[in-house]
Amino acid sequence: MAESSWRSDLARTITDVSGLPDCLDLTDDERRFFTAPETHGRLSLKVPPAVARRMADTDTPLRRQFIPTAAEFETLPYELADPLGEEHHSPLPRLIHRHPDRALLLVTDQCAVHCRYCFRSRFTDGSHGAISTEELSAVESYLAAHSGVRELILSGGDALMLGDGALADILDAARRARPGIVFRVATRMPVVMPLRVTTELTRLLRAHAPLWVVLQVNHPNELDAEASHALGALADAGLPVINQTVLLAGVNDDAEVLEELFTALVRLRVKPYYLFQGDLAPGTAHFRVNLERALGIVAELRRRLSGLAMPVFAVDIPGGAGKVPLEPSALVGEDENGYQLRADNGEMYHYPRE
Ligand code: SF4
Repeated sequence: MAESSWRSDLARTITDVSGLPDCLDLTDDERRFFTAPETHGRLSLKVPPAVARRMADTDTPLRRQFIPTAAEFETLPYELADPLGEEHHSPLPRLIHRHPDRALLLVTDQCAVHCRYCFRSRFTDGSHGAISTEELSAVESYLAAHSGVRELILSGGDALMLGDGALADILDAARRARPGIVFRVATRMPVVMPLRVTTELTRLLRAHAPLWVVLQVNHPNELDAEASHALGALADAGLPVINQTVLLAGVNDDAEVLEELFTALVRLRVKPYYLFQGDLAPGTAHFRVNLERALGIVAELRRRLSGLAMPVFAVDIPGGAGKVPLEPSALVGEDENGYQLRADNGEMYHYPRE
């Protein structure tokens, strides 16, 4: 598949309400988003035609993820434009360096689809565009001077919105600076625009191994035949693929749905890596799941899934202290002989101290 195929798919992306399929009868709440003055300055509508066709039913989880509603107008006092405090950890405009061993580079502000709960909507689809030659050269110098950086995450926006040439320039520059660096390429494109996974792309990514592809899939409905084929092509090319899911009310806040998603991913040779509690981004309260309920869902998943299929449930501490894994606690007590552990079946068991 040539680069021109996904480019023409991209050119047909729906960015205006009038471009949505007729069968997608908008609800009052959805319609209000497009007509109210508050819409100005918010993350715009962006849906690839293939995704739009799959969300005709008013209640589909795809529709909730990608069609805006007036609920986005309500910003709570503790919701922040930069909920993870990324700007405080940015030594260069596009580089986020919070942990000594890894850094994240915002290679473009463009995505193939706009997710209504995006925690980085302050940057997404802004005026930044793709990383410039000068910015990349500054990043190369920074990486050369910081020998502790072992991993570089290419993110944005969506890293695979860049063409192969631009992507190769970034990967090559980082490798020159730090020859042993491990890459992670963060993208939704294999699922929302599977034509992006060309033979040329898989060759390019493979040539820059060690390189991990980091997906975001939130509902099993996203894994149609084309997406499954694209994920198969990545795995066949020898690229390790991991997935991050965001826990979203009305989309996947159900152990059964997540069980289906994670087992489907494992079948497609994708390791479920993280399940994230929704971040405190502006206008996203309607997507967040109460933490106690979220832990209940995680406990249920633990009972149903193998270690391979079970992701780590984590919450990003608001303001930028990083992510913390959260577990329904298994260690419930101790005495002079040892510990009391609660197993996945809910029963208590003794475990010796030594
Ligand atoms: S693909 Fe990622 S960066 Fe783009 S809108 Fe969705 S969550 Fe945000």
